Amino acid sequence: MTFAHLGLIPTLLNALEKQGYSTPTPIQEKVIRPILEGKDVMAAAQTGTGKTAGFSLPLLQRLTKSANKARPNCARALVLTPTRELAAQVAQSVENYGGELKLNYNLVFGGVKINPQMMKLRRGTDVLIATPGRLLDLHQQNAIRFEQIEILVLDEADRMLDMGFIKDIKRILALLPKTRQNLLFSATFSEDIRSLARGLLNDPVEISVTPPNTTVERIDQLVYTLDKTSKTKALIHLIQQEKWFQVLVFCRTKHGANRLTTQLNKKGITAAAIHGNKSQNVRTRALADFKADKIQVLVATDIAARGIDIVQLPHVVNFDLPHVAEDYVHRIGRTGRAGKSGLAISLVSADEAKQLASIERLINLKIEKKTLDAFPASQALPDVKLKTKPKRPKKPRKPKRLRAGEHVKRSM
Ligand code: AMP
Repeated sequence: MTFAHLGLIPTLLNALEKQGYSTPTPIQEKVIRPILEGKDVMAAAQTGTGKTAGFSLPLLQRLTKSANKARPNCARALVLTPTRELAAQVAQSVENYGGELKLNYNLVFGGVKINPQMMKLRRGTDVLIATPGRLLDLHQQNAIRFEQIEILVLDEADRMLDMGFIKDIKRILALLPKTRQNLLFSATFSEDIRSLARGLLNDPVEISVTPPNTTVERIDQLVYTLDKTSKTKALIHLIQQEKWFQVLVFCRTKHGANRLTTQLNKKGITAAAIHGNKSQNVRTRALADFKADKIQVLVATDIAARGIDIVQLPHVVNFDLPHVAEDYVHRIGRTGRAGKSGLAISLVSADEAKQLASIERLINLKIEKKTLDAFPASQALPDVKLKTKPKRPKKPRKPKRLRAGEHVKRSM
């Protein structure tokens, strides 16, 4: 199967060649055609499967083929994402694939000044990529109108619900024209997602490439059991001994991420932290430096890391295990992307045995466990018997909606 077989136009095929994509990924094989045909699509696909190109390519082609022109302060396609990082990532992909088309793209998210975004929206936008809160702010200020929306994409819909965006999403949906194409992408199809889909999608084509909640097969996973107090030293030892570069390390808290970053830097390992207390500019710079190999380690919290896209990221380390088992799947999805192999290592202390058991049940796999000779665990991992089904936290934290000019203080 080639991209040409899927019916993509030569300009897009050239762009894909420039990106070095030779064959479509499984999700791309399945979604491109129905989207080109104008159908609604509901797709279960995790990050790393190539889903962004899966919806962007046919969306761009449909916009190019239609004779409509975006009027001032209007947009023709709207892509909603849960985080600023993911929005920026999607915008970059749209730019990469559609750079040679006569279409224009705009990106809006909170945490930065609203005025430049308002100015850019004036001339009309073909593809608008947005986070929900800022989009509503822009709408309230008459900077964006939705009457011309032809295509709506909800990307990482499960994460949008987890982050408490459901009200914002419903408000946006109520403002959109009734006739439009809808595309919904989600890592999992929970009952909440299905209920959102019922009110949104019209006779959708349902697509799934990896069964929800399973880890990407190509990722090698390993657990090092050790004492909590040895984690920092053990990580430094592993990075130095194994000569790792481009290591993405996950911490549960912002303070933990800061502390670890300082300790790594003290040992001569270049590291930067990204989390909700860092400004958007600092986060963007840290990510760019990491991608350009200027820093060896990026230390991130779960929400801040969502949407990070680094091709061939070789190592992901869970410095702490996440409380929500699904986050483990999202975390390690950063490695082994689109067919590349990767290694995901978790440093697990005895107090995290329950989280590990939940993860293993979710991914239906016993992860190999080892100890490090230099850092023997003083206590074996207790055997945990899980009784109840794993649960999502009941009350998702509701992110504060931003007003014009306000800066983000959201906790991540
Ligand atoms: P996504 O799941 O959309 O975040 O994409 C994951 C990664 O796969 C990104 O780095 C894309 O650039 C890359 N990618 C997407 N489609 C392909 C393809 N057909 N061949 C190779 N790499 C791809």
